[in-house]
Amino acid sequence: MSYSECTYHGEQESYHCGYCEGKKQKSRCTHGASFSTLTTEDYQSLMFRGWRRSGDYCYKPVMREICCPQYTIRCDVGRYRLSRSHRRVLRRMNEFLHSGETPKANNKAATGASAATASRQANNSNIGESRPVETTAAASAGASASSLPPVGGDVGGGAKVGAGEADLAALEDGAVSGRGRLRLGKARQKRWERRLKKLRATAAAAAAASGDGADPETSLKATLSAYRARRAARAAARAPKSLDQMLQPPAEAKHRLRVVLLPSAKREFDSKSEHSLYERYQMRIHGDSKADCDYRQFYRFLCKSPLVYAKRNNRWIGSFHQQYWLEPENRLIMVGVVDILPDCTSSVYVFYDPDYAWLNLGTYAALREIQLTKQLGLPHYCMGYYIHDCVKMRYKGAFEGSELLCPETYTWHCLRTVCAPKLHLSGYCRFAPSDVPDAISAPVPVSELQVALGHGSANFMPYSQMERMLSGRPSLLAMLAELAAEFARLVGPECARRIRVRFC
Ligand SMILES: [Zn+2]
Repeated sequence: MSYSECTYHGEQESYHCGYCEGKKQKSRCTHGASFSTLTTEDYQSLMFRGWRRSGDYCYKPVMREICCPQYTIRCDVGRYRLSRSHRRVLRRMNEFLHSGETPKANNKAATGASAATASRQANNSNIGESRPVETTAAASAGASASSLPPVGGDVGGGAKVGAGEADLAALEDGAVSGRGRLRLGKARQKRWERRLKKLRATAAAAAAASGDGADPETSLKATLSAYRARRAARAAARAPKSLDQMLQPPAEAKHRLRVVLLPSAKREFDSKSEHSLYERYQMRIHGDSKADCDYRQFYRFLCKSPLVYAKRNNRWIGSFHQQYWLEPENRLIMVGVVDILPDCTSSVYVFYDPDYAWLNLGTYAALREIQLTKQLGLPHYCMGYYIHDCVKMRYKGAFEGSELLCPETYTWHCLRTVCAPKLHLSGYCRFAPSDVPDAISAPVPVSELQVALGHGSANFMPYSQMERMLSGRPSLLAMLAELAAEFARLVGPECARRIRVRFC
């Protein structure tokens, strides 16, 4: 039986804020706990209350007090649709895999001449892209739809205006039976009549060629069906490709991208190659010193995980590294660290080869992780925290289906329609309507907590037992009561029952 266990550190104040560089008056303030073990269920519950993990340390920002409020963001993958800029990212990758060529416009970034440019491009996939916008598949599909045989007004007494397959079927019926007087726009009517005349001629010629006994009406019907099938095939070929289709490796490619998913704790992967990639990424993209990103730091941040692996639907869930190898060079170009939880996946971090920053690898990894989420049959992809003011984070909001967690009620709200208009006005916002009860301030009973005091291997015991034990030490008991109530309120009723907590 798995369980979760942590040491609660209480409120941690005055971290340096890397987002506003301390330009805003308030400090960065969080509540934190180190977990020696954490079940995937508990971590998911914590995440859906605004917690987040970094290595084995989990923290939750004090939203009302910090300079840059960090909202938990997730994408409802069922609602996700490829945007034009995401198509561009996928097309760019596919072009590169196919031709093996580096686009000229990106040579500067690709050779590392400007890491800052690379960083901007990498972080803001939708901003500042200078490549000319090609005619998208969606645009050409739109054009083809408008040239379908015209239909306007009511068809067959009640069908809606449109130019789809059903309308074409109605036109066929009308053309054959001779009824179908359609009220069309004049130009469209004329166009259709011209086309119909040609189709009739083709049908008549076919009937004559087939010799005696051919029924001209049957021949017309067959000609119209063939015409309809041709049009449908053409429209399908021009239709915008889905995420799955665009992630298919291009035919006759110079390169191949080999994507492997490995458990992070098992050390089955070559963590040395990952570390050297991480080091290059941190130094070039984030300007870290070599000491800032040494192996120990890398291991603690990205390899160490308190998550307990569990089997769900014949698959292991827990912490994973998704590696992207460029073949045939066998070169590791990117790693996405991702937690797979019972109902969602959660992106922990992405680092990549700065030489390939022009491929918008950060966004590419997110698209791959959305695909992974869909393949696993999970409804949500969590993208960490979102800070509305932070330009580097805007790309997270560009995923259709993005939702933010209300910091007061722990309910989810559409970023585009509900949250963004509020966030334009104020850094800190409640998203839920006022009649939704607060969850953040609702007290959670401490009676079911399993607690231990001090460092070392002291046994966990029910809170009431601890209370009796400390009855002679009122000041210590008061301190414990305060910390326990704070912890229970922050983790919520379910986790308060399940997580064993140590107070030091
Ligand atoms: Zn800040």
